[in-house]
Order: sequence, then structure tokens, then C-alpha cells
Amino acid sequence: MAAPLTDQEKRKQISIRGIVGVENVAELKKGFNRHLHFTLVKDRNVATPRDYYFALAHTVRDHLVGRWIRTQQFYYETDPKRVYYLSLEFYMGRTLQNTMINLGLQNACDEAIYQLGLDMEDLEEMEEDAGLGNGGLGRLAACFLDSMATLGLAAYGYGIRYEYGIFNQKIKNGWQVEEADDWLRHGNPWEKARPEYMLPVHFYGRVEESKEEAKWVDTQVVLAMPYDTPIPGYMNNTVNTMRLWSARAPNDFNLMDFNVGDYIQAVLDRNLAENISRVLYPNDNFFEGKELRLKQEYFVVAATLQDIIRRFKNSKKGSSGPVSFASFPEKVAIQLNDTHPAMAIPELMRVFVDIEKLDWDTAWAITKRTFAYTNHTVLPEALERWPIGLLETLLPRHLQIIYKINQGHLDEISALFPEDMDRIRRMSLIEEDGGKRVNMAHLCIVGSHAVNGVAEIHSNIIKTDVFRDFSELEPEKFQNKTNGITPRRWLLLCNPGLAELIAEAIGEEYVKDLSQLQKLNELVDDDTFIRDVSKVKQDNKEKFSQYLEKEYMVEINPSSMFDVHVKRIHEYKRQLLNCLHIVTMYNRIRKNPKAPFVPRTVIIGGKAAPGYHMAKMIIKLITAVGEVVNKDPVVGSKLKVIYLENYRVSLAEKVIPATDLSEQISTAGTEASGTGNMKFMLNGALTIGTMDGANVEMAEEAGEENMFIFGMRVEDVAEMDVQGYDAMPYYQKIPELKQAIDQINSGFFCPKQPELFKDVTNMLFNHDRFKVFADYEDYITCQEKVNQLYQNPREWTKMVIKNIAASGKFSSDRTITDYATEVWGVEPTDLKIPPPNEPREALDETARALREK
Ligand SMILES: *Cc1c(COP(=O)(O)O)cnc(C)c1O
Repeated sequence: MAAPLTDQEKRKQISIRGIVGVENVAELKKGFNRHLHFTLVKDRNVATPRDYYFALAHTVRDHLVGRWIRTQQFYYETDPKRVYYLSLEFYMGRTLQNTMINLGLQNACDEAIYQLGLDMEDLEEMEEDAGLGNGGLGRLAACFLDSMATLGLAAYGYGIRYEYGIFNQKIKNGWQVEEADDWLRHGNPWEKARPEYMLPVHFYGRVEESKEEAKWVDTQVVLAMPYDTPIPGYMNNTVNTMRLWSARAPNDFNLMDFNVGDYIQAVLDRNLAENISRVLYPNDNFFEGKELRLKQEYFVVAATLQDIIRRFKNSKKGSSGPVSFASFPEKVAIQLNDTHPAMAIPELMRVFVDIEKLDWDTAWAITKRTFAYTNHTVLPEALERWPIGLLETLLPRHLQIIYKINQGHLDEISALFPEDMDRIRRMSLIEEDGGKRVNMAHLCIVGSHAVNGVAEIHSNIIKTDVFRDFSELEPEKFQNKTNGITPRRWLLLCNPGLAELIAEAIGEEYVKDLSQLQKLNELVDDDTFIRDVSKVKQDNKEKFSQYLEKEYMVEINPSSMFDVHVKRIHEYKRQLLNCLHIVTMYNRIRKNPKAPFVPRTVIIGGKAAPGYHMAKMIIKLITAVGEVVNKDPVVGSKLKVIYLENYRVSLAEKVIPATDLSEQISTAGTEASGTGNMKFMLNGALTIGTMDGANVEMAEEAGEENMFIFGMRVEDVAEMDVQGYDAMPYYQKIPELKQAIDQINSGFFCPKQPELFKDVTNMLFNHDRFKVFADYEDYITCQEKVNQLYQNPREWTKMVIKNIAASGKFSSDRTITDYATEVWGVEPTDLKIPPPNEPREALDETARALREK
């Protein structure tokens, strides 16, 4: 028998990682050594693993530069309609491997690094995640950038360059502890600062009004410094730009006026201005109405709009006379990722009316045709409602503009529905009860030509429930754009074994057209393919087990079912329901230790917002249950509970390919879409889930019989809200539920502090907005069906194949194609920009052209 392949040999065999040319490899090695010497100023005697990572990052980056310049030049010359994706979050994760994949350099780099006697995976592990997001919303923005570049759209991501991203989570004594994410400490090789394009952003001040005009005066200025990150498309020579703004104090900050004489203090106070881009707010699906957050939201909007307008005017260079903004909506589409950048609407109006001197109605018509708004949640606690007082102080002119927008808006409604005062109150941009506030979703709806939800069920809820009055007024404005994920990161990068297996079966085209995965349906009965799919999963499970053992000294059984629940910790996502299933399994084992049991490793992970008490208690409960379960000799290796510390993009890439069972168990009607669900489906996990978010469409694509669907439907939940939900009867009537709750309540899992989980049980009995008990029984029954199937590996894997084959809809390429054609009015292309010239040739050409003139 031949010796088993080494990791290096396995990686070389994988064709979709690109071609290994001898010259290519030699060139890469040369680049690596050059960067180690000139960029890092090290030799191999003193170089650290991090130095090697940076040397490789710079070598790979060199391959981006020509394509990046060429792409931007191409946009300048052809002047296509630009798409601007505005987001307070871009959850990018790591960049090195993604860049190698999209440029087709991965195999050549692997070979070069191998020849240099280094280990590629070790180097990749040195890269910090760019954690500039909380969860799904920020990761969606990152997937969209990849798809927009792959589809050849002239697109830009605009956001904030937070100095500290989402905190690092440590679990200490079972509790979450937060640590600052100093991700820029060692430098960021993927960004290019552009101090020459710095722009001023104004805050505070007052409005001076005359008959002709309004002037915003006496403001404080903060400078916005752009940092550009290249966004390569997959194998098409396109490189787009993500531009993130960093706050800088002007050099005369606080020296001009009142602080005269206290030079030292004035310099120290520069921090006050620069704090704007210091740190990402760590809330997921929760509105925290802090002044600094409002400053962040306006900061990104004000800098970005100046950039957009500058680019628009620049493209009009040839034409004479004053710039006409009439064509603005034909050249510019701005997508608002939730209401976080909503101030872009009054800001564009301010620029048009106060600075460019357009009349109000013209400006308003252009503005509405420019913006589109994506809603991401219906949870009331997540909806942004900024107090009037804050706006009046920080952005007085914008408040006036919002009032004027509201006036026109309410006039229209009163004309259509005279005397309907209640409708007018409901639809106002200004909420009156409990202190005046601006409802930012209402502002976005009124100021946009398109509004969309992120899955069919969610878009329907928006139309019939949260924004019903608005959809009655303008039904054609409301759309659906079901979320998606990029198959490059979430298959090629994280699961090369499966990606290659699929390529061998159906060719490589599926990477750019994921609907082709349907072809796998022809292989559901193919014994070899079934065996190979199952082998890839087993390999991934073993690799992940080794990772856990090495990093956390926990041992798990790779032949047990990996049951994984990873996402932000939130009551609506119902990690507590999963926890009750764990306790139920534990009690069953103890009651009947000899009975057959399908071994499980339950892996739960995710961050709790630091100020979210209940979410932190949920983490402590899961770890406490894990302590008891994991060290009970009666349980043995039948059941293990792992709390996966510091869940983030790079950890998702490790755990998802190793998962057998994906937990997607939110209360129906609460998870707008979910994208974690799609990543698991694509990577060969089966889903246990409710009919919520995109789970509904996953069931539609794969067939409900190929998912483990349980629990109340959204109609059942609505009906229960009418009747009033009472947890007690479930507790009284379901003995296993009663036992589990009694144990949690009495301190069984925490004997040293028996009162510890009283807040949790009290919530479950008396104010559980997410109705955990109501779905308990059906969930437990459904988990038994999961066990039944898992005992038949062949049938399990056949269902896995059917799921992978049905996952094509959930490519973000499909999502972006739909936005492009139905919202932005641009066409995706598979046009391949020609590869770039060598920089010297380009300069020679320019010089020749100049001489010939
Ligand atoms: C995809 C992803 C999410 C979103 O997961 P959901 O299950 O849809 O909430 C959150 N965090 C990370 C790191 C992700 O990669």
C-alpha cells in the first residue's frame, strides 16, 4: 500500500487551487525573499512566523496592485454606473488565502512556501481577523463585496476603519470576559492609507437662516482619512475598493479659540476627535442610542457622500458650465445596509440644497431615486430611534431637513387619507410618545426608491406588519432579496476537500454559477460519491478535533455526531432551547445508562453583547451544564458539551466543514434571514430548524423531507400572541421539561451558587418573548428523528448530497445579480479585464505618449 498523502501532497492535487508553473513558483520565492529582506528587514535566522506571514502577504499583494490600478482606470475611462454599499460593518475575516484563491495563486504559493521549508497553514494562522462586524449583517457586507467584484460591478464598500473590532472573547470560570481587539498592532498589509484624499466632516454648530438660504456655521471639524483595501473578483482580473474612514483631528484642533495657551492640553484633546473611529459597537440586533455611535454614523456618511459627488463631478470634466445633477441617479446607486447610514438621506439633501443650490423638490426627486434601503430585523429593540435632542445638538441642520421631509411626507398622506389622524401618527418620521425621536426606518423608506427584506418570510412580515402602512401607500417599493454567501470563502477556502470532490464530479464552473450544484442530484445513489462525501466530512471532523485538542486541550470523539450551534448569543436565537435538549439527553442517559445512545458532541459558540445580561447568563448556564455532563462517568463518551470560545470568521471556517448537524432554531418570525444556515448547508451538514428566515427557502429548495423542521410556524406564533403565551402548562404537562427546569432552577448545575440561574428560569416562566417551552416537545421529538437517520450513514449522506445540490440559490452571486438588475439598474458582466502591464512598461508608455505630443 502507498504511504498516506501528506497535507502538502493533498493540497497540490487540488486543481481548483490554480496552476503551478515552475516560473511562477520561482517568481513567488524571489518575491518572498525580497520582502523578507527589504520590507521586513529580517534574515532567516531571526525571522518569526509572523515575519513569514507578512513576507507572503506582501508577495501576494504585489499581484493585486496592477489589477487594482487597471480596474480603477477602466472605470474612470468607461464611466459605468457606480454602486456604493454603505455599511457600519464589514466582517472581512482573513485576507491572505482568499486573495490567493481569487487570483488563482494558491497552488503556486503552496509550492513556493513548501520549497522554502515553511508550512502554509502555520503562516495563514498568523493573520489577525479583520473583525469589523458583529455577525450576519457585517459578514453579508463582506460576502457582497466578493460577489460584486466577481460579477464585474463598478462597486465600492464604504465604512469605518475601527481601530478595535469586535472584542475577543475569553471564557473564564464559565463566564464571558471581553478583551480589546488590537488587530492593527502589527500593521495591516492589505490597506493603503490615502492621506491625500482626506475630507472634513462637521459636527455641532448652529443654523443661520436668511430668506434665500440656510447656513450651518460654527461647527467643529473632524477629518476623515481614507484607507483603501483591494477586493479581488474570482479569476477575472477585477479589483474593486473597500474604502474605510479613520478619524483625524485637524492640526489646529482646539488651538484656534478657547484653548489658546494650553498647547499640551490641546494636543492631548485630539483624542476626543479621533475617538470617532476607535471602536466597533459590539451590539447585534440591538439599538444603543449613544452620541458617539451617532457621530460614527454621520462620519461615514458625510465623508462618503463627498467622495461620491467628487467622483461624479470628475466624470463630467469634459462638459462645460455648472454640473447638472439630473443624471446623478443614472450614475450612482447607494445601498443602505440597515438604517445605520440613514443620515445619508438628509446629508445628500443638505449638499444639494445648501451647497449645490438645487431647489428642494428637484433635490428630493434625485435623492429618492439614488437610495435603496435593506431592512435586517423586525425586533423592536433593534430599530434605531434617535432622540430629537441629540440630533439638535450634533446635527442641527439635518434635523431641520428631516422635519421638512416629514412635512412633505405627512402632507401626502393627509391628502390620500384625510382625517386619518392615527395613520398620520403611525407613519410620521417623528415619534411623539416618550420623548420625541426620529424613526430612522421611516426616514429610509421615505427617502428610497426600493426597500427590501432579506428572505421571503421576512419581506412578507415587513409588508404586512412592521411597515404595513408604508407598503399600502407604495406597494411597488417593497421587494425581497434573499441573502447569500460567497462560495469562494465558504467552500473553496474552508472546505478544499469537498470543493475538489465536487469539481471532479461536475467540473469547476459551479464556483461562478452555484446553481450547477443541482447536477449532484444525479450522484445521490452513486456508492463511490457517497463514500467520498462521507470521507471528506470525517477528515474535516478529525482535523477540527485535532485543532480543539491542540488549542484548548479538550478531547472529543470524532465518530460522534457533531451538533453545532454557532452565532451571536441572543434570546431570539434560542440557545436555551438547545441547552434544554442537552439536559434532557443527560437525564435520559442517567436514567437508563445501558440503553443505546447515539453519541453526540454538542458544540455551542458565540459572543454576547457585553451589556446583555441574559445573554451572558446563557453562556454561563451552557458552560455549567457542560461541566457536569462532561465529567459524569455514567455519560462517558456518549455526550460531550463544548463551549467554542471566541467564535469569529476564521473559526467559522474551521467548525462549519466539520459539522454534521446545524442548529437554526430561532422562534418563527424573528430571524430575518440567517446566513450561518446557508454556510452549513453548502458544507454538507443537515439542518434542524424552525420555519424561520431563509430556513423556509432552504426547505423549499431541498424538500422539507430533507430537513429536520419542527416547531411553531409564524402564524402559530401570531395566534399565540393574540391568546397570550403562558409557559406554565408546558412545564406542568411535560415531565422531562419539568425535570430539566427544576434542575437548572435548584442549582443542580451550580451547587456552589444554587440561586445563580433564577433570572433565567424566571424569564422562561414569566416573560419569555421567544416561547422556548412552546417548542420544546417538538424539538426533542425532532432530535430523535435526527438520531434515527444518523444511525444509517448511507441514508444520512444521501440527504447531505441532496442538501448540497439544493444550496445553489444561496450564493451571494445570485443575491447580487438580483440587486443589480432589480434595484441598482446595472448589469453583471463576465467581462475579464486584461491582465496588467508591468509598471515600468506602463510608465514608458506614458512617457512616449507625452513626448509624441
Ligand atoms: C455567518 C456568520 C454569522 C451569522 O450567523 P447566523 O447564524 O446567520 O446568525 C455570525 N458570525 C460569523 C463569524 C459568521 O461567519
